[in-house]
Amino acid sequence: MKTEDTIWAVLESVTDPEIPVLSVTDMGIIREVHAGEEVEVVITPTYSGCPAMNTIEVNIRAALQDAGYERVRVRTVLSPAWTTDWLTEAGRRKLKEYGIAPPQDAVADKNALFGTPRVVPCPQCDSENTELMSQFGSTACKALYRCKDCLEPFDYFKCH
Ligand SMILES: [Zn+2]
Repeated sequence: MKTEDTIWAVLESVTDPEIPVLSVTDMGIIREVHAGEEVEVVITPTYSGCPAMNTIEVNIRAALQDAGYERVRVRTVLSPAWTTDWLTEAGRRKLKEYGIAPPQDAVADKNALFGTPRVVPCPQCDSENTELMSQFGSTACKALYRCKDCLEPFDYFKCH
């Protein structure tokens, strides 16, 4: 049966090329799904310049075609813009298990307005004794931090 629920189930298997543990549904980038003659998937990129988004679009189409949906259209909607609030709880947990610090909530972010450095807890040992090494980690979506307790460097997912 080809319903919107089964399309969502297929989308759960499509992962972020940069963070393979995170599915596109975990990321909260899927806005709408329409079943019909042609399947339409509406997505909002994590940020408009994100090079991974093209890959995600291709992967969504490929996964749905593998599942038997011949005509698939992926439409990109930029407004309202994606924020890290759209990341699901499961997504945050998977990020941390993968060793990437999940985005801090908006309340914590307010500290940045007052010039107080953001505290990003270490995903390995939960220590808050961490320091920013670089605004840009392995990709533009991540910043590189280092934990002063376990001495491990780690990525912080900062796209918003
Ligand atoms: Zn640590």
